[in-house]
Amino acid sequence: MAILPIYTYDARVLREKTREVKKPDAAITSLALDMFETMKPASGIGLAANQVGNGSSLFIVDVSGVEGYEETGPFVFINPVITELWGEDVGYEEGCLSIPNVRDEIFRPEWLNIRYRDLNFEEQELQADGLLARVIQHEYDHLQGIFFTDYLKGLKKRLVLPSLKKIMRGEMEADYPLVPVHRMDAVER
Ligand code: ZN
Repeated sequence: MAILPIYTYDARVLREKTREVKKPDAAITSLALDMFETMKPASGIGLAANQVGNGSSLFIVDVSGVEGYEETGPFVFINPVITELWGEDVGYEEGCLSIPNVRDEIFRPEWLNIRYRDLNFEEQELQADGLLARVIQHEYDHLQGIFFTDYLKGLKKRLVLPSLKKIMRGEMEADYPLVPVHRMDAVER
């Protein structure tokens, strides 16, 4: 297993539509395992494949280190579809490994139902609430090209803009490896 560098705001791979996983193969399994390995030292609880530069419709969640969730997961969500969202909109301070040092309160529905395939490509359905539903919605957004900061409006948005620009210039540091946008763009062009 390997620790993969994290693509940062506003990398193209994090804005493009992700592609369906057609069939399970060794590459997908090894990607998921690498993602768990990558998330651990970064103290993450969720990670989408495009955050490590892979455009597959896949994300992982591991909240088992959080009090009250010791028996929950870990999960690999392949080709996920959130089929239902309900309940009150709850505010919670979110962060993102692709947006180091930025946190803000985001409101999301408390409950959801999600259909997906697991690492054995078996169809699964899960009903979640609380922190699990929160992380799932955040990671699911990544697969649609959405960052949590996209939800910020007005003053809140203006307050995070300097940090976002700093990240895009590759000036933001984290205690895990990052792929700065400018370097990545240089490779792609
Ligand atoms: Zn994120």
